[in-house]
Amino acid sequence: MATLGIPSNTAAVLQKYQFRFQKKYGQNFLIDTHVLEKIIREARVEKGDCVVEIGPGIGTMTQYLAESAGHVVAVEIDGALLPILEETLAAYDNVEVVHGDILKLDFCSLVEEKNGGRPVKVVANLPYYITTPIVMGLFESGAPLDSVTVMVQKEVAQRMQAGPGTKDYGALSLAVQYYARAEVVANVPPNCFMPRPGVGSAVIRLTRYKEPPVHVQDEKLLFGLIRASFNQRRKMLVNSVGNAPGLSVGKEEARRALLSMGLSDAIRGEAMTLAQFAQLSDLLSKGETEGK
Ligand code: SAM
Repeated sequence: MATLGIPSNTAAVLQKYQFRFQKKYGQNFLIDTHVLEKIIREARVEKGDCVVEIGPGIGTMTQYLAESAGHVVAVEIDGALLPILEETLAAYDNVEVVHGDILKLDFCSLVEEKNGGRPVKVVANLPYYITTPIVMGLFESGAPLDSVTVMVQKEVAQRMQAGPGTKDYGALSLAVQYYARAEVVANVPPNCFMPRPGVGSAVIRLTRYKEPPVHVQDEKLLFGLIRASFNQRRKMLVNSVGNAPGLSVGKEEARRALLSMGLSDAIRGEAMTLAQFAQLSDLLSKGETEGK
């Protein structure tokens, strides 16, 4: 089978199967061999690895992964792509295609079943409409993961990597950085895809921490505080947290906690580091500031 990274080969396969792109599935297929090689390199795929690919499309990146990894499990939602994948991946005996929705599938069980519960690497050109639920779902599943190297919309990659005080910093930055070291490893222009997306793209590598960089007593509270603080980005943290439904934290309580940390009670979430959110979360979960 001819390599699909070459645009004429991709076009020939699409033509042969009369394939119709489904916008609702975020289908933009890669047609640039340099970008494909770069992704594999940056994902640090090795012969001993089990790689999970989300959305193989017609199997373009899957071919590259099959050449470099020990085993590839590719999860694809669009049934119309299955006969195509059968043909384009016929030469590889180390690839398994799973027909399913990555958001509905039990990722932990998949890793247990396909790699005996040992850590996998996730490599994908993601459907952009569900980037955040996919990435957060992978980490929150608790499944053993080495790294997640994915093509995403450029702005989303910048948000994942951003630090406090920058315009891109937000709940996604903190949530991702709780689990992983985030590095943008490539910028990719629209002409590397068929059809061309209306946005720029970037590849981000998320290398999972063995231990989270901060330890908290109540993870749910930490994430609740982060979400609430950035829901009303321009508001002072005491107001956004104090008003948040589902968070039983009073405005006065939040104010006391911030002051006891040596911070201003006028601070906004966008100025707080992950470590400070963690400290705030622990103070509030212990109720240590009560009555002070
Ligand atoms: N990997 C291919 C490539 O780079 O050429 C295709 C990438 S395309 C951006 C995204 C792929 O994800 C499509 O094949 C699409 O059908 C698939 N997809 C979309 N939503 C999905 C979901 N919820 N679960 C699994 N696959 C999905």
